[in-house]
Amino acid sequence: MSLKIDVISTFPGIVETFAEMGIVGRAFKLGLAKLKVWNLRDFADDRFKHIDDDPYGGGPGMVIKPDPIFRTFDALEAMNSNEPRHVIFLTPQGKPFQQDDAERLSQQNHLVFLCGRYKGIDERVREALVDEEFSIGDYVLSGGELAAFVMIDAIVRLLPDATSDGDSVISDTFPFGLLDAPLYTRPAEYRGMQVPEILLSGNHAEIEKWRLEQRLERTRQRRKDLYKQYMRRLEDRENEQGQ
Ligand code: SAM
Repeated sequence: MSLKIDVISTFPGIVETFAEMGIVGRAFKLGLAKLKVWNLRDFADDRFKHIDDDPYGGGPGMVIKPDPIFRTFDALEAMNSNEPRHVIFLTPQGKPFQQDDAERLSQQNHLVFLCGRYKGIDERVREALVDEEFSIGDYVLSGGELAAFVMIDAIVRLLPDATSDGDSVISDTFPFGLLDAPLYTRPAEYRGMQVPEILLSGNHAEIEKWRLEQRLERTRQRRKDLYKQYMRRLEDRENEQGQ
């Protein structure tokens, strides 16, 4: 069964453009995942397609009204026979999106991404419709579409058969909590710079050993937090095995 993905947005074109490219575009073309983008303005209740209004209590910026969002969900539910879905709101107030989340969400059947804009959305939408809130980093974007697509990319590339070489997903930076090893391709010498001898040796056991050492060292140097986590996990595993 393919993963259903709905995106609710005020700028659907942004999402549709990304959805045509690369591994993710290929996955949609192969039917591994199905994308539907909903334009919030189609659910505006006036002929000028207004979806936002002034914030109660005053202050700068506009707030997306609850009605267009609730009505989009009504239409979405009608189309999907009220089947279970997991609704994600993109917001800088959400928990930081991590590889573990991508793995967990890639196991779901139906994901709905709600993209905010302007000052944000009416709080009642969050309370009534949203299951989980994610941020893609500690900065403020002008809309949730790029954030939604960052998540969709990370999730869809994990689907079985999404990458032509599934192994490359396994050796990527985060699956083991370590950063990836340095990569080289032909030529073996370029402008006086050499590819490490070991990679040309054909000795796969030694190459894997070298890669692991590089991953450990790179992670220790660049991401002490991940390195400590990894070491703690190793220690726990060793203690468990010793018991
Ligand atoms: N006033 C909001 C706040 O401080 O939480 C920020 C609103 S922002 C200008 C507009 C929309 O962009 C948000 O509703 C959210 O959907 C999206 N957005 C902005 N930064 C984001 C981030 N770091 N991660 C995920 N979504 C983000």
